[in-house]
This record gives sequence, C-alpha cells and structure tokens, in this order.
Amino acid sequence: PLVLGIETSCDETGIGIVRGRELLSNTIASSMDEHARYGGVVPEVAARAHLEAIVPAIHEAVAEAGISLHDLDAIAVTSGPGLSGALMVGIGAAKALAVSLDKPLYAVNHLVGHVGADILDPAGDAFEYPTVALLVSGGHTSLLLVRDLVSNVELLGETIDDAAGEAFDKVARVLGLPYPGGPQIDRVAASGDPKAIRFPRGLTLPKDLEKHRYDFSFSGLKTAVARWVEKKRDDGDEVPVADVAASFREAVADVLLTKAIAACHDYDVPRLLLGGGVVANARVRELAAERAQAAGVQLRIPPLSLCTDNGAMIAELGAQLIMNGHAPSTLDFPADSSLPVTEIQVR
Ligand code: ATP
Ligand code: MG
Ligand code: FE
Repeated sequence: PLVLGIETSCDETGIGIVRGRELLSNTIASSMDEHARYGGVVPEVAARAHLEAIVPAIHEAVAEAGISLHDLDAIAVTSGPGLSGALMVGIGAAKALAVSLDKPLYAVNHLVGHVGADILDPAGDAFEYPTVALLVSGGHTSLLLVRDLVSNVELLGETIDDAAGEAFDKVARVLGLPYPGGPQIDRVAASGDPKAIRFPRGLTLPKDLEKHRYDFSFSGLKTAVARWVEKKRDDGDEVPVADVAASFREAVADVLLTKAIAACHDYDVPRLLLGGGVVANARVRELAAERAQAAGVQLRIPPLSLCTDNGAMIAELGAQLIMNGHAPSTLDFPADSSLPVTEIQVR
C-alpha cells in the first residue's frame, strides 16, 4: 500500500511516504534551533512550528515521492506518546487529509514507529522477530521486547527520571556547551579519557536490579557530573571538559548497553535494534557493536535519518498494519501524550 505518515510528537515535523517496504520520501522540518536558547524543547513553540511547517512539508514529500495525494491508499499519524499540543497539530492535519481525500487513517504509536523504521533500511535484510529494541532520544529511554510489530510489543523498562538525550543536553549545559548537547559532548569527548572519572551507573546495583532490572535513571548521573564540575571550579581548578564529557558518555553508553544485552540474554532473543537520536553517539554505537558481538547478538542500527523522529517510520507502521489486515482508526481518537507502547494502534 501507498501510505503517507505524519509525525509531530516532539520538535520534528516529519512527513514520509512509503509503498510497502519501500521508502519514497522522508521530509523533516525541525524547530530545534528555536528551542536552543531555552536549552530544551518548549512545547508551545514546537506546536506553533508544526502548524507553520506541516502543509509545506506535505507538499514537499508528495513532490519528492512523485505521487499525487489522490494516489494514497491510507494516511498514518502519530497519536502518542509525545507533547500534546505538538501531537494535536499532526493529528488535526491527518484527520483533515483523511476526510477530504476519503482515505482510511491509522493512528499509531510513536515508539513502535521507531521499531518499524528498521524495515525501511535500504541495507536491511528481512526484519525478524522477536527482537529487543532500545529507543534512546531526548524524550525517551525505553527497552522493548517486540514479538510482533503490529500485535505484540512489551515494555521491559524505561527511564524513571531523565531520558538519556535529556541528560546529554543538561550535562552539556553544565559544561557550557550549546544545545542540543548530545552532538557537542560527543565531539568534545573524542579527545578525552573515558576512565578519567568514574561516574555512577544508575540502577545497576544488586538491590536496584530486583525492581528495576531494565529501567534506567540518569538524573543521579547528571547531578554527579554537575557536583564534580562545581567542585573543580570552587577549588579554582580548570575543568577538564574533554575528560568529563568522555567519562559521562562512557557511563551512559555502559548502562544502556548493559541493560539491553541483559534483556537479549534473559529473553533468549539474539537480536537488538537501536533507535532514537542518541544512537548518533559514537561511543554508544561502538560499545553496542562490541557488546553485541561478545554476546552473540545481531545488532541493527538503521541510518540516522530513520533513527531520529521522522514520518517515514510512521507511514511504514501504517503500511504494516494494513498488510496485516488491521482496520483503520475511527476519526474521533485523541492525542495521548502517555500512550502505552502496548497500544500499537489507537482504534
Ligand atoms: P523523541 O524523544 O520524541 O523521539 P527528540 O526530538 O527528543 O524526540 P531525537 O530527535 O530522536 O529525539 O533526538 C534528539 C536527542 O538526541 C537530543 O537530546 C540530542 O542531544 C541527542 N543526540 C543527538 N546526537 C547525539 C550524540 N551524538 N550523542 C548523544 N546524544 C545525541
Ligand atoms: Mg528531535
Ligand atoms: Fe522519537
């Protein structure tokens, strides 16, 4: 089926068009720059930016795919989780398109969309389930067990405080680096020593593992970095920015991969899929490759344009629902900022 996907859960206005498993276009407009001076995504600003960007983005995606809107078999849209106001812009546009074109509409889960992105990987082999999926971005740090993309997704664990990307952004601010902090820390860390400072690995002590085996916590780490840097400054010492960045990045990568590989092991699933903007991180990628190989786990990392928020992954999840005979959503569905991952499609 020919499906147009709309993604507006955070700061990317993403419009993607797929035909079956084939990617035809993937247009992204980001309001990232507008959030820079606030040091994080401002919901109201993001929603307004979506409103301005969405129609041009739809036109661009349609032109690039070389189709007409009337050719579409269906429309898919992110209905949650995400920022309510931002979601509402995409949902409003999707409903309007569906009604005016008289096409079926599929309201889908953003996180499951990230998993579906792998199907569009041009270098990808046939996608196999079950798989463990680790989704790490500015808004999420979630570990999923995907037994079937369209019918069986389980949340194994998630962050109990900050998302990993959020921690990168906050630590960057402590170090005086601009937003978004992830790429900045990554760059600076390249010349630092990851063993210089032993920062805490959240929720990895035996007592934590009982209740939080697959959960994450990064706020303690962020505070530890801030305290360490403050003390250096108070002592009148120069802050070794590269070493701090490298040691912090190491702590994040270590925890992410330790828990993800543990899940593969515990559930006897020899596949791990990564998604979300933090996957751009050089150390996360390197450690993922190392640990996966050591554990005999097959690692899949889609191209970065499909790892960060995009409309193509939403279109593909819609296409998969259609190919598996799922009925479209009724047009009165809401925006659900905390849509659980088990709810793959909102009916
Ligand atoms: P959502 O959580 O809804 O997916 P998002 O916009 O926060 O939305 P992405 O756009 O996927 O998520 O990712 C952005 C986040 O990824 C930011 O927090 C950014 O700092 C982080 N990031 C980007 N590049 C890197 C990197 N090289 N290393 C670490 N973090 C990175
Ligand atoms: Mg983003
Ligand atoms: Fe996302």
